[in-house]
Amino acid sequence: MAQQQPVDGIPTATLKPRKAQPLYGRHPWALHSAFDQIDDSAANGDIVQLVGDHGRFVAYGVVNRQSRINARLYSWDADQPLTDDFWKRKLAAAIDCRRQLGLFHETAGCRLVYSEADGLSGLIVDYFAGHVVLQINALAMEKRLDVIVAALNELIAPKSIAVRGEAGIQKAEGITVEAAVLQGEVPTDPIYISENGIEFELDLSGGQKTGFYLDQRENRVAAAKYFSGRRVLDMFCYSGGFSLAAAKLGGASEVIGIDGSDRAIELARRNAARNGVTNARFESVDAFDHLKAQVDAGEKYDAVILDPPKFTKTRRNINEALKAYFHVNRQGVNLLNPGGILVTCSCSGNVSREDFQMTLLGVAQKSGRDIQILEQRAAAIDHPTLVTCPETQYLKCFICRVE
Ligand code: SAH
Repeated sequence: MAQQQPVDGIPTATLKPRKAQPLYGRHPWALHSAFDQIDDSAANGDIVQLVGDHGRFVAYGVVNRQSRINARLYSWDADQPLTDDFWKRKLAAAIDCRRQLGLFHETAGCRLVYSEADGLSGLIVDYFAGHVVLQINALAMEKRLDVIVAALNELIAPKSIAVRGEAGIQKAEGITVEAAVLQGEVPTDPIYISENGIEFELDLSGGQKTGFYLDQRENRVAAAKYFSGRRVLDMFCYSGGFSLAAAKLGGASEVIGIDGSDRAIELARRNAARNGVTNARFESVDAFDHLKAQVDAGEKYDAVILDPPKFTKTRRNINEALKAYFHVNRQGVNLLNPGGILVTCSCSGNVSREDFQMTLLGVAQKSGRDIQILEQRAAAIDHPTLVTCPETQYLKCFICRVE
């Protein structure tokens, strides 16, 4: 892009020498250490223009001195300032993308906006059969909640809009967003979404995360094709996403789903019944205890799915997380008959694909079993990876054959 000049009338945040490069490179996070100074006239939540040490315009962002990310960047074009119309256009583009992908329709569940990946750092918008759930993960978005809600109404007229927050992220941003219904009524009765021809009940009022793990949509189908006539153990099954795909799409002979949450297991049972699946059973028990007990009992399966919760939220705990992945995967492998299928996932963003693969290397060496990776997968297509922000890729899903 041609060199751009700073714009009059917008507070300036000046970058330190040599700190502008990644930001010219369109990474949306400007850390505290990148700044020489930020104009006092810009309060937290206000718009600033970032200027390089040679006085060149870099980007428009929103400042938040309470966060390690001192400014989140949204536009690299001096002619595209962060007006209400700008936010609306960004939302419209993200929604159009899901339409284009064929994911956005009345009975669907899909992620309409995935934060940085859609140029809206700090905002997640999930859609569940007409109902919208927002996650506000940045002050910049909290301050613009009214604009976002108005734009969503204009663009897709949702039946209801609710907001949720994640405590850890909010603390890092210095914000408090109480879970609330902003508009319409969130049904207390169950609602249903259809995914790959399977209906799932959603618990929008009290479910985990935003109610359903949309990011595994395509991995469920991909895994299912290896399950014909096989006995499948689905660890950390939540509402039965992989289990029901295994039974209904994959023709598994028997499926056992395990989750530690009673509520999830009740959901999974109702989902099985609703979809006419009679060869899946679900048990509420601690997964780590269950794995150990199954290994001790010498149980064997033809396929094991491991989709645990995040083992670490920080880089600091990465070694413990890797040990935990090693441990569950080793047990998973131990439960497999020769020629069995291991579907193993990690949703810890701090654990890289390479690290995760190294964990499997360790498991192969320690267990003396050959592990062949058949497919290396990531999150569903409504959770894209923005190449200028690799942090948008967090989910790893390896489908392996274990000899
Ligand atoms: N596979 C699921 C998503 C799994 S999310 C799907 O396709 O929808 C991780 C799940 O792990 C959550 O449902 C959570 O309840 C469960 N979980 C977390 N800790 C657990 C534990 N110690 N034992 C069993 N389940 C656990």
